[in-house]
Amino acid sequence: MLEKRPEKPRLSIVIPCYNEEQGLPSTFDTLLKLIKEMIIKGKIARDSYICAVDDGSKDGTWEVISKYHRKNPLHIKGVKFIRNYGNQKAIMAGLEESRKVGCDCAVSIDADLQQDENAIFTFLEKYKAGAEIVCGIRTDRATDSFFKKTTAMMFYKVMNLLGVKIPPNHSDYRLVSKKALEILERYTETHLFLRGFFHEVGLKTEYVKFNVKSRKFGTSKFSVYQLFALALNGITSFSIIPLRIIAILGFLTVIGSVCLGLETVYEKYILHITPPGWATVVILLALFGGLQIFCLGIIGEYIGQVYSEVKARPRYILDEELR
Ligand code: UDP
Ligand code: MG
Repeated sequence: MLEKRPEKPRLSIVIPCYNEEQGLPSTFDTLLKLIKEMIIKGKIARDSYICAVDDGSKDGTWEVISKYHRKNPLHIKGVKFIRNYGNQKAIMAGLEESRKVGCDCAVSIDADLQQDENAIFTFLEKYKAGAEIVCGIRTDRATDSFFKKTTAMMFYKVMNLLGVKIPPNHSDYRLVSKKALEILERYTETHLFLRGFFHEVGLKTEYVKFNVKSRKFGTSKFSVYQLFALALNGITSFSIIPLRIIAILGFLTVIGSVCLGLETVYEKYILHITPPGWATVVILLALFGGLQIFCLGIIGEYIGQVYSEVKARPRYILDEELR
């Protein structure tokens, strides 16, 4: 059932920040200007705000957030992690904090404002028309390196094949309604892959295209390892198809081996020839050795996922909160 949408929703803009001291003041200024403009135009409530999450930064990020909060406590809120937990958890903490502080909808956007913040106007229109989730879709990946472009494309292809049809080129720039936030609260797994989650809940979703800008300050805060971990977590937490593929491979291998065995017996006892077969043995050995280790690796990933979820550790620990 479609909830009645507030005329002027209370909006929260969530920004995950890791070592963003350099660019954060300019980001705050831009977003504050945007919030004021939207308030004046009657698009959002007067008490809409920015919720910045300091993901255990090692530089002066928290000082910047605190300074802006002191100057403007109504429009700037913040939480600080005790250590670095990664971008997904930082966004999640911002969303949870927004739900606690109170909001009708929340938008997550990167601290470097690479995503065009003006798309929030369109996000809000879609929200008011009834969408529970509005995903930003990049028009292109021109600002990304060749490596990131290809690995991202491969990731979305694999996810698609595995039945998790998340929209490609959707970085975590999206608007989610209060209803979506309430559902998120009930998903208690420690390592939640947000893109997968917001796709899986099945709420009414709209897509909005936006342009990507290049980073003005500092460098990317994502290491190759972090990207890899994010991709693996995305796959293993939303699809068990790799495990099924292993089972099917195993079954086919058994059939193949039985045929090969029968052929060997036939050649030896009926045709009375000793099969030469050295090359065959070596190839089969190498092939199955590799295959087994690869399959073990996949199973290991899932066991790792079960292991870390079964411990049910808290997702993150907050050090400070500015409301
Ligand atoms: N980020 C974070 N924790 C991390 C790494 C990144 O909160 O461990 C934040 C970062 O501050 C930024 C967003 O995630 O707001 C996206 O990071 P970045 O711009 O470095 O990624 P890229 O645009 O290169 O994919
Ligand atoms: Mg960026």
